[in-house]
Amino acid sequence: MTKTYQLFIDGKWLNSKSAETFYRINPANPKEILGKFQQGTKDDIDKAVDAAEDAFGKWSSIPPPKRGEILFKIVELLRVNKERLARLMTKEMGKILLETRGDVQEAIDTFEYFAGEGRRLFGHTTTSELRDKFAMTIRRPVGVFGIITPWNFPIAIPAWKLAPALICGNTVVWKPSSDTPLCAIELMKILTKAGISDGVVNLVTGPGNTAGMHLVKHKKVRGISFTGNRDTGKQIVKEAGIKKVGLELGSKNAMIIMDDANLKLALDGVIWGAFGTTGQRCTATSRVIIHETIRKRFEKTLVERVKKLRLGSGLNPRTDVGPLVNKAAREKSARYTKIGMEEGGKLICGGKIPKLNGFFFQPTVFTDVAIDMKIAKEEIFGPVVSLIPVKNLNEAIKAANSVEYGLSSSIYTNDIRTAFEAIEKIEAGITYVNAPTIGAEVHLPFGGVKSSGQTREAGWAGVEEFSEEKTVYIDYSNKLQRAQIDTK
Ligand code: NAD
Repeated sequence: MTKTYQLFIDGKWLNSKSAETFYRINPANPKEILGKFQQGTKDDIDKAVDAAEDAFGKWSSIPPPKRGEILFKIVELLRVNKERLARLMTKEMGKILLETRGDVQEAIDTFEYFAGEGRRLFGHTTTSELRDKFAMTIRRPVGVFGIITPWNFPIAIPAWKLAPALICGNTVVWKPSSDTPLCAIELMKILTKAGISDGVVNLVTGPGNTAGMHLVKHKKVRGISFTGNRDTGKQIVKEAGIKKVGLELGSKNAMIIMDDANLKLALDGVIWGAFGTTGQRCTATSRVIIHETIRKRFEKTLVERVKKLRLGSGLNPRTDVGPLVNKAAREKSARYTKIGMEEGGKLICGGKIPKLNGFFFQPTVFTDVAIDMKIAKEEIFGPVVSLIPVKNLNEAIKAANSVEYGLSSSIYTNDIRTAFEAIEKIEAGITYVNAPTIGAEVHLPFGGVKSSGQTREAGWAGVEEFSEEKTVYIDYSNKLQRAQIDTK
């Protein structure tokens, strides 16, 4: 019997007004149905926004350290439930247990970091140009925040948004991806168990283009924090109106390997960066820009290693690479593989749909890829990596910067001057030296440049995203003092 899950609005689990539901299946075994979920509507979003608006006054007036105590309870509950949530996540979106445990750990770290922020939430004090006048800034919550999240980090990414939103005193309507509604419901249950009061966080599952877009346009919503595809991000910017909008979008991350690099280290980096999460990370390594003198040697060892990667259910401890999230994602990898071959890229490994139950695609490597090919420019979001040969650092940086995206990047080199030149010149929000393009830590800012987004989140940047800075002047001179005029 398939279990039916509900929306969470104003502290109650409810059916959608649409009376419609959708199924979520296990991508490693599509016959296994994980549950039936509500197709939330515009009416459901309205109800959730009203609840969040009503709850705002009370929640925002609780002292932030007290709100932090609730976040610490969330941390405890996530710790106790870590293994259960990781297993459920592997079943729902496919990545291997090692990685889903990491996803839950990232949420634990995030809630812990922001619980502590309850005792900081700094503004700043500064001087005044006038005598007997005090100047400072304080932080205020924004109001009702709409949070819209993808499926690839179904607990960590919501945590990146919920934790700062809550500590700063906002209330929330959360629309998760329809590929991971169960993870969202489980996280929501933990939030309620920790004592988040009615209306403070409301969860509406359902379609992005109706329920999600209604949230984006909603007049009572004061901020939107979105992570997802570039094209969805473009629509959101167009439709949000005058609101605070945070965007974390797609990417085409490059790893540069120079001729002086430790090649064994770089090889480990490519395997983890390109095929971890089956290539479905916003920070996945999808281009390897490699010095031509070491290219052949590297290609050979890379192919040997990639061929050994074991595909299968992420619940099996022997599995290296799980399935893609759904059939469409697998088709996208297959389509780009075909395009890559037509464009003249040389397929040296993988490229096929294996004979396995589930949405699997072979880990795939192209070489002799030129920067103007589609496989070198467009986000595939699957286990497909392109090797781009270059003659020197200048060419490498030019190739790295040749795409419209700019989220993560990395360089392998043992030359400090080369490393610093890359740090300075690569157009990306993140640059790793001698590490792959993935591996963000929660207390540092995260985000991209160009089409990868326009904001930063995590760490202190999360506080900035989810609060307004108010400027306060206190004049204790007991007379009218005019700035820029009475300054003598
Ligand atoms: P997506 O844009 O299809 O969906 C993301 C969320 O937006 C989902 O909840 C979806 O229902 C909702 N949505 C879809 N259309 C909408 C609309 N018109 N209005 C409002 N909401 C809408 O993205 P996805 O397939 O779930 O995720 C993969 C993408 O996310 C990739 O491009 C990846 O690079 C990106 N991503 C970026 C980051 C980052 O931090 N930069 C992190 C993870 C994933």
